[in-house]
Parts: sequence; C-alpha cells; structure tokens
Amino acid sequence: MFCPFVHEMKNKSETTPALAIHGGAGTILRSELTQERAAYYEEALSIALKAGKRVLTNGGNALDAVVEAVRVLEDSPMFNAGRGAVLTHEGGHELDASLMDGAMGRAGAVAGVSRIANPVLLAKEVLEHSEHVLLCGSGAENFADQRGFTFVDRDYFFEPYRFRQWQEALVLDRVQLDHTSEKKFGTVGAVARDASGNLAAATSTGGMTNKRYGRVGDTPVVGAGTFADDWVAVSCTGHGEFFLRNVVAHEVAARVRLAGVDVETASHDVVMKVLKAQGGEGGLISIGKEGPPIMVFNTPGMYRGWWIEGELEQVAILGD
Ligand code: ASP
Repeated sequence: MFCPFVHEMKNKSETTPALAIHGGAGTILRSELTQERAAYYEEALSIALKAGKRVLTNGGNALDAVVEAVRVLEDSPMFNAGRGAVLTHEGGHELDASLMDGAMGRAGAVAGVSRIANPVLLAKEVLEHSEHVLLCGSGAENFADQRGFTFVDRDYFFEPYRFRQWQEALVLDRVQLDHTSEKKFGTVGAVARDASGNLAAATSTGGMTNKRYGRVGDTPVVGAGTFADDWVAVSCTGHGEFFLRNVVAHEVAARVRLAGVDVETASHDVVMKVLKAQGGEGGLISIGKEGPPIMVFNTPGMYRGWWIEGELEQVAILGD
C-alpha cells in the first residue's frame, strides 16, 4: 500500500548551510515500530546528522559533509550499508556507493566491493585520485589496496539478524529488498549545501538480500541513485531497478535545470507520479541552491534527518 507523503520545511530561502540524510524508505508500520526501536533508529540518525553538521559548521564543504554523514551511517549495524549490509545469495556481501560534487561536476563510485568497511570513502578516493568514475569488484579493491585502504574480513559485516533474513530468503528463493516483512529499503544517503552554496550528494548500500549474478542497483550509478550539480543534489533509496530505468536522481535535476521546476515539485513529481505509476517504491532526499531540504517517499516511512543552520536538528521515521 502506498502512503503518499512529502516532508518539507517552508520559509527558509537563504543560502544557509543545510543537510539531510536518509537511512532507507519502506513499509515501516506504526504498529510494528515500538518506542524502543524508534528511539534506537532516531539516535543512529541523529549521530550521523550531527557528524555531517559538524563538518559544515566548521566551515567544511558539502562533499565532506555528505561523506562524513554517510560514513557514520555505514558504521551503524542498523542500516543496509557498510557494517549492516545484507547478504548475497552466496552468503557474502557486495557493497555499492557513489557520491557527486555539484560544484565541480566530479563523481566517484564503487560497486560490488566486499572487504571495504566504508565504501563511501573508497568512492571519494575514486573521485579524487582516479581518472575514472565507477570501479567495481576486485578492480575496485585493487585500487583500494594501492591507495592504502585497510581491508576487513567477512566477520566485520556479520549481523545475526542479517543471517536469519538471508536464510529465509534462500528458503523462499526470493531476492529481497532489505527485509520484505517490513519492505524497508535500507540504503543510506546524504545531501548537503555548504556556506558557499555548493551542493553534494552521497549514497551507500548493501543492495538486496539474496542478490546474485553480480546484481547492481541504482546506488552506485551516478544519475540513478545519486546526482549533484549547481542546482540540486539528490540521494535515492528504493527498488533499484525502477530508479535505474527512470534515472531518478538525474530526472529530478533535469526538471530543475532544464524545465525551471522548483526542487520540491521536481522531487515530488518523480517519486509520487513517475515512480508510483510504475509501482516503483522508495523515496529521495534533495536540496537546492536555496531553501530547505526536501524529503519525499511513496512508502509509509523513510528513516530521515535534516538540519538547517540556525535551527535544531530533526529526525523522523514515519510519514505522518
Ligand atoms: N536502491 C538500493 C538497491 O536497489 C536498495 C535500497 O535503497 O535499499 O540496491
């Protein structure tokens, strides 16, 4: 069941630093969300939000802020990215991440890495220290090795909950987007605007439970799961195949840049009209040159947090 919801904050039009994060969208039902569970997620979101905010308030740029927020989310076992990544069909982990610096038009991404604790840091390394945009699998890990990254072993990602989820998916022979019982898409992401008005976006995921054949979703694909230019920065979460086919992050940016549509309308229309019409569940966060971050999703909930300079940080889970 779709539950349309757009979260927006009005009356903020200055080009003040601002940040939004997400920890995935999905069928997060009030009846299943105990106070304790909600508090646990809210705290994890709040820690990541503060980390990104700290970069901005210390005069850091938007790219560093989104990387820091996503790195902290990757370190949490609560989200399907980094440490909490879901298991593949073979019982391993294949992690994807991407990021884009709107001011310089630079992008970096990695797909299918299995021994890197923070794929977003490797994606940043690709952006800064390679002539390429997207590196995958063993090639990406060779690059990581050359750049002095530390490798983690399989146990680093081991979470008993993820193991049970994988076993269920194997029995049902089903490729699941995070856990289907909740229909939660646990990818994490961040968008930011710094004091100079520069925009950036980053996204990281473990993909789908029981995925095989080297399946890659939208997250590491610049333009699909992540995009930033001088007008808008976008980070997506949801059923990756729909986000790939609709090149969602770039679709939002194209509407803003070419059609002169405002960020809120563009974000809303792509998620609530284009994706929804196709049954593509998920959501996105976006931020423009001015104004508040936008958070829109066509599922009942999306783990999210936002901050604008001069205001308190806020986190939310459900759509109402
Ligand atoms: N978009 C991700 C993928 O399809 C999944 C998610 O957002 O949780 O790999």
